[in-house]
Formats: sequence, C-alpha cells, structure tokens
Amino acid sequence: MKLADKVLKGDVAAAARLIRCLEDEVPGTAKELESVYLHTGRAHIVGVTGAPGAGKSTLLGCLIGFFRKKGMKVGVVAVDPSSPFSGGAILGDRVRMQSYGVDKDVFIRSLATRGWKGGLAKATVSTIHVMDAMGKDVILVEAVGSGQGEVDIARVADTVILILTPGTGDEIQMMKAGILEAADIFVINKADIEGADRLKATLEGMLGMRSRSARGWKPGVVLTEAVHDKGIDEAADEILRHRAFLSSSDELKERRKQRARLELIWAIESYLNNYIERMSQGTLEKLVSELVQRKTNPQSAALKIISEISSGGKNGLFTD
Ligand code: GDP
Repeated sequence: MKLADKVLKGDVAAAARLIRCLEDEVPGTAKELESVYLHTGRAHIVGVTGAPGAGKSTLLGCLIGFFRKKGMKVGVVAVDPSSPFSGGAILGDRVRMQSYGVDKDVFIRSLATRGWKGGLAKATVSTIHVMDAMGKDVILVEAVGSGQGEVDIARVADTVILILTPGTGDEIQMMKAGILEAADIFVINKADIEGADRLKATLEGMLGMRSRSARGWKPGVVLTEAVHDKGIDEAADEILRHRAFLSSSDELKERRKQRARLELIWAIESYLNNYIERMSQGTLEKLVSELVQRKTNPQSAALKIISEISSGGKNGLFTD
C-alpha cells in the first residue's frame, strides 16, 4: 500500500515517515502528497505564535488536553527556525508533552529545518496537510513570533493566537510589528506576573482604537497561567468562537482561498527553482556569456528558458 493511502487511514507510522521524507526531500514524496492533498481541508488550523519563552509549548500542552476532552483529534506541528538543532527547542516540549505520547489521537511533530530548499513555510504546510488527511480535527502550529525568515503563521492558519507576556516590552513590540492586524486572539500568558492587567488594558485600548475589523471579528484578550493550567478553557473557547465565526461568514473561504493561492505560487516557484538548479552548467553559462557580450538581455534569455520549459524542455520539471 502506498504511504499516502496509509496516512488516509490514520496510520501514525506512515504519517511520520511521509513527513520525514518531506523534510529529507526524498524523490517521489511530492507524488505522495498529491493524493494526500485531495483529502485535506477539514481540520481547523490554529497558529500559536509569540516570543521564545512566552509559554507557547506550555499552553499548547494545555490546549491539547482541552481538545482531547472534547473528543477532538489533535495534531501539533512545532516549528522553531531559530533553534540551533533541528527543532531543538522542541526537545524540551517533547518531554513536556509526553503525557500524550500514548494517545493515538494526538500526533506531535517538530520540524527539522535542515535541507528544505524551498523554505520552512512550505514544509509546515505540507506537514499540516498530512495531519489533516490523517483525520485530525484541530492542528496546532507552534511558531516563534513573526519576524524575518520565520514562518508567517498568519498566512497558513485559520486562527492565529499571539501570546504576550507582562514585563517584556511587548506593547512596544506590538506597535512596531503591526502585530495587531495579524492575530485573531491575544493570550496574555504568565498572568501571575506583575503587569498582566496593565498589558491587557493597553492591548484592549489599542484594539479599541483600531476600528472593528471590516470582517466583523473582534479579537478577544485572554489572561492565562499556562504553567498552572489557568485560563485555558477561556483561551480554547475563543478558538472555538473564532472557528464558528469563520464558518458563519465568508472569512473561512477567503482565508483558504488565500492559502491555496500561496501554495500554487510556491509550487510554481519550486518547479522553476528546481529547473534552474538542474539546468546544465553549459546551458546556463552559454546564456551568461551571451549576456556579457550583450547579445541578449536577461528578460529575453529568461523567456527563452521558460518557453523551453513549457515545451517540455530537455531538463524536465521536477518537484522532488
Ligand atoms: P516557549 O518558548 O514559548 O515555548 O515557552 P515555554 O512553554 O517553554 O515556557 C517558558 C518558561 O515559562 C517555562 O519555564 C515555563 O514553565 C514558564 N511558564 C509558562 N507558562 C507560565 C505562566 O503562566 N507563568 C509563569 N510564571 N511561568 C510560565
């Protein structure tokens, strides 16, 4: 049986292998993903983002518990590109989350960033697809707060949660990063620390200044103490409230359309990148020297290559 067929049956070992093949860019993996993709679009994807140490993993652990109590199947994708090891910060998370290790309806994967030419975001989306096809109801994606080179979680999630903490100058960061627009739910974690209420008031003030979203969603601000399992129900209820909002409006369709568009563009880019990488040095160098001699120009040379691709050029197109 193909790996993809096993994944569709919820086979955990097969899913783990497929994800590993994705990371290692094993030839043939794109083909497997093709059939997986057709069975996706059911899971609710929740992005959880925030600065390192804000409490993402701790909160995720709590959220898993909440959703499992509701009988929902949970997938977790942990992404930490800043980590020196492949998903290294996750090592600790694994330990923290290990109480779910025996629950077959919780599937946790941390993403190794090594070797993925096309960027981490693509690997994240593919992993989400695998979990979606496995039949997970909710997929939690953990990523370090938005910044350069990091996964732009807002582009791949249905619901984006931003975790802030008191006493870390988060207000200033928020203003700088324009983060208010990116999040659907704000969680102020470590509410046991001095300044949580003040941060909440500041945030609510800032959100109030922003006219209610054109789409009709007013982001909630929730206080939690993840380490003490406090405020989790409120945070999770906000996720469910947002999910209900998305389904009752056109917003879900719109977000998924944007994601589909993004993935299409990524696919085109990766075909082209692969083509360029596999172009014989000779072909490339010939064009380069023509450019140097001003016999042609970059645009015409590029169009020549593109027309070669569309006529099934000798280098062929590869996705993996
Ligand atoms: P991450 O890097 O965002 O995933 O953060 P972690 O979940 O690893 O948490 C970082 C540290 O903050 C850990 O030592 C947690 O025990 C601690 N932590 C998490 N939640 C809370 C909280 O509500 N209050 C306090 N005081 N500490 C917390």
